[in-house]
Amino acid sequence: MPELKQALRNISLIILDMDGVVYLGNKPMEGAARAVAFLRGSGKKVVFLTNNSESPRSFYVRKLRSMGIAAGEENVITSGQVAADYIRGRDPQAKVFVIGGPGLVEEIRRAALKLVGPEEADYLVVGIDRELTYQKLADGLRALLAGAKFIATNPDRVYPTEKGLLPGAGAIVAALERCSGRKPDVVIGKPSPQIIRFVLRAFGAKPKETAIVGDQIETDVKAGKRVGLLTILVLTGVVKKEDVEKARGTKNFPDFVVDSLEGVIV
Ligand SMILES: [Mg+2]
Repeated sequence: MPELKQALRNISLIILDMDGVVYLGNKPMEGAARAVAFLRGSGKKVVFLTNNSESPRSFYVRKLRSMGIAAGEENVITSGQVAADYIRGRDPQAKVFVIGGPGLVEEIRRAALKLVGPEEADYLVVGIDRELTYQKLADGLRALLAGAKFIATNPDRVYPTEKGLLPGAGAIVAALERCSGRKPDVVIGKPSPQIIRFVLRAFGAKPKETAIVGDQIETDVKAGKRVGLLTILVLTGVVKKEDVEKARGTKNFPDFVVDSLEGVIV
């Protein structure tokens, strides 16, 4: 694709969504490691980005390495990390109550924020929590009614696994919205521009030198468009060829569509 080759010439940073692009669950995508090596070989920095806050960065580093893709914590970014950075940037002394997985808890700790119970919290941060209980929802409601700021790591209603769809962080956020009558003050993950701006800051990159590769129009492409990135859609995840045709002509139509990540080898 000569147009894609030309467009990639001006790009120095590539943001790769992971699930549905680099792998599906625990299965690496055919050619993904080759594609990452090609991009790096052409002098581009590659950063791996996920809306999922469940696992720490070290988990993704191990997962990528097991698939033959060199990675370190410096080029993996999760919504949990960006949520912690967001709070720290506003109040380094903030007291935080978390409903979420171990990755989110770890990021709050690494940002030197204080983990507290619901009564004391300045912030309630909500991510995917596979050990969600009625008690945790009740505690979240208590924090919100007491005036805590409401931060959602990501809005995903569901997420794809090898066993089919599972409820995402957005479903837990919705339960808290419903009982408290409050919407999140901030949503961190895609399609919010927050997470993309964090990446640009972290790498000192300008939007016009940056591309995002994702498998979803409503999250990856939309987030990229909001910030002015080059957007590339792959068809190995959520969005299929038929869906692309339906989206043609809409404002979130990607700049390029490729069958798989291997399609960036141009
Ligand atoms: Mg994805």
